[in-house]
Amino acid sequence: MINKTPISFEFFPPQTPEGLIKLSGTCRQLAALQPEYFSVTFGAGGSTRERTLEAVQRIKSEGHEAAPHLSCVGSTRENIRSVLNTYKNLGIKRIVALRGDLPSGMAATGEFHYANELVSFIRTETGDHFRVEVAAYPEFHPQAKSPRDDLLNFKHKAEAGANSAITQYFYNADAYFRFVEECRKLSVTVPIVPGIMPIVKFSQLARFSDACGAEIPRWMRKTLESYGDDNTAVQAFALDIVTQLCERLLAGGAPGLHFYTLNQAGPSLEILKRLGYR
Ligand SMILES: Cc1cc2nc3c(=O)[nH]c(=O)nc-3n(C[C@H](O)[C@H](O)[C@H](O)COP(=O)(O)OP(=O)(O)OC[C@H]3O[C@@H](n4cnc5c(N)ncnc54)[C@H](O)[C@@H]3O)c2cc1C
Repeated sequence: MINKTPISFEFFPPQTPEGLIKLSGTCRQLAALQPEYFSVTFGAGGSTRERTLEAVQRIKSEGHEAAPHLSCVGSTRENIRSVLNTYKNLGIKRIVALRGDLPSGMAATGEFHYANELVSFIRTETGDHFRVEVAAYPEFHPQAKSPRDDLLNFKHKAEAGANSAITQYFYNADAYFRFVEECRKLSVTVPIVPGIMPIVKFSQLARFSDACGAEIPRWMRKTLESYGDDNTAVQAFALDIVTQLCERLLAGGAPGLHFYTLNQAGPSLEILKRLGYR
């Protein structure tokens, strides 16, 4: 059976012209599965502003829907207004709106504190032009005062005008289902799309997970560690468990899947092939 649940893919903006050409190839391979859109991350404080724009233009010019991420911490209203106008003039219709994290040591001098303020600003400035995605954290954001506070803060983003959410990656499907249930109890009705992180290298995953607070369950960590430098064994195990995670999420009603590709087509393509995407 052919799977039709919507999918999307996330890239980071390449640092070099060669990287941008390579991204076009990756995009072409993934486009065969007819994703809803390709998103491109944005360094907090505007550090990747030009590169994000370049990648978004490239994706759009090749006929795909591109969704730039936009983080607000460290930015002024004027900066954000100018970025929004640029995207509007380019015909971009979707934005992933975030607070972002400033590099350590950089003082937060901007005019925005939290992502809900950015969502409100986008609505005030551009009405309904953009479909706005926000971030959600089934295992809770590392700086949240409490799970309850984090849920309420997520609700504020929905109330500010977000259309839907993409989650931080996780490997525990129960955390996702519980998060969705808690949101529905708070009358938050926006679709909450699981973010899926294929695993290519354990050391890289461990580093990301420490930084963003996504848990690698002990049984997975122990198994991945036991493979040492044997990346073939890591990838074979990872493809199985991430595919099973996606199967559970889709069977439980997840409204879509958003893949953190790390600019590689292979792992996402293989998982999606196993899930019945053609
Ligand atoms: C799908 C996805 C894509 C991402 N893309 C990028 C990217 O492109 N660039 C980038 O720099 N980062 C990106 N990130 C990381 C993100 O910027 C960080 O996780 C950041 O720490 C929080 O951003 P947020 O938009 O979730 O913030 P918020 O929703 O503002 O939440 C941040 C923290 O503040 C708390 N909070 C929110 N509102 C309030 C309030 N009014 N009072 C007190 N506390 C509050 C929340 O509970 C949470 O702990 C992404 C994350 C995800 C899940």
